[in-house]
Amino acid sequence: MSEIICCVCHQPVGPEAKRLGGRAYCERHYAKVTQDRPGAWRAGLGHILGQVAFVLLVVVLVSLFKPTLTGWSLVAAGLVLALIPALIWLIFFYQQDRLEPEPKGYVLSVFILGALLAQAVGIPLLEDVFDVRHWLPIHPWVNLLGSILVIGFTQEFLKYAAVRYSIYPSAEFDERVDGVVYGTAAGLGYATMLNVHYVVASGGVNLQVGVIRIVVTALAQASFAGLSGYFLGRAKFEDEPVWWLPSGVALAAILNGLFTYLRGELTTTGLGLTGGGFNPWPGLILAAVVAGATFGALFYLIRRANRLTLAMSESQT
Ligand SMILES: [Zn+2]
Repeated sequence: MSEIICCVCHQPVGPEAKRLGGRAYCERHYAKVTQDRPGAWRAGLGHILGQVAFVLLVVVLVSLFKPTLTGWSLVAAGLVLALIPALIWLIFFYQQDRLEPEPKGYVLSVFILGALLAQAVGIPLLEDVFDVRHWLPIHPWVNLLGSILVIGFTQEFLKYAAVRYSIYPSAEFDERVDGVVYGTAAGLGYATMLNVHYVVASGGVNLQVGVIRIVVTALAQASFAGLSGYFLGRAKFEDEPVWWLPSGVALAAILNGLFTYLRGELTTTGLGLTGGGFNPWPGLILAAVVAGATFGALFYLIRRANRLTLAMSESQT
């Protein structure tokens, strides 16, 4: 029989080692995997409110001061707005992280990896190779299916890969909640690059409409990547079937596509309340609700898994 090793640090452990879903753990990592990390959750939920507050602040300031920016100053203002959502999350995360520190360099590296994959693969693939902008609008069903199968799968696979092939195999990925934390970081990196492209391609944006779109993109990309990160966390610490990880990416891709489609419908019809025309606000409400529901559900699932594990280990002793 082969040697029994801890599934996190790969150190040999005795045959009487603690088990969890068929995996063996050393004492240290068994204690670690079940940590709830309330700080990470406060950052996950708190940043959603922070993003909405940021939108309201920009909208109010622009209405009060009516800045007349043109050309490069407008692009520069847009770029600053594009960077702030990720900064808001990082500030929340680093603030809450003091009590239960996560190696900050890794979080930042995964964020940068998400941004690089968007720049090098995701954006060229969707814009140049699949050329989605030109065929998605031809029919509502084409739009919905294309949003899921082409945009959703491309974006969610890349964000998943940013975690799966970097931090995931390492011993630093040692708590159930880590998948969600690193997934969120990859999602925000991806979103930041999308937003930079949006600002540059539009040659600067209407600041009020622009800040809403920037925050909607950040919230959505972070939520869906957090979801596939949850699947990664489960796969690392429990024996899951081979279809488990592909299902996580598929679920994130379906939600991503549905969200993209629904946001398009809501913002162009304005929920039917304004008699047509473009209205970005329903998109922001949708993104905040989706982000709140996603992080809330993941928080609940991980807390429940941790409680069950602890109850089980107490009944064994
Ligand atoms: Zn270990």
